[in-house]
Amino acid sequence: MPLYDFRCDECGARFEKRLSFSQSDTRIACPTCASQHTRRLISAVMVLGVGASGATAEGGGCGCGGACSCHH
Ligand SMILES: [Zn+2]
Repeated sequence: MPLYDFRCDECGARFEKRLSFSQSDTRIACPTCASQHTRRLISAVMVLGVGASGATAEGGGCGCGGACSCHH
């Protein structure tokens, strides 16, 4: 499961949480103040996860759009 970074808008705390893809749109409560005013930060972990699952290296046509390290 991908590891996401979150930041709390109420108290400013940053925390990490592992979520399955089905959970990725749910609101995550802050572990410090229990507020649900948290936002997910875009991290490189997500990009690497997409490239690893969707890439086919055969013939150089992995269709990653340059997101992975396939030398496009
Ligand atoms: Zn908080």
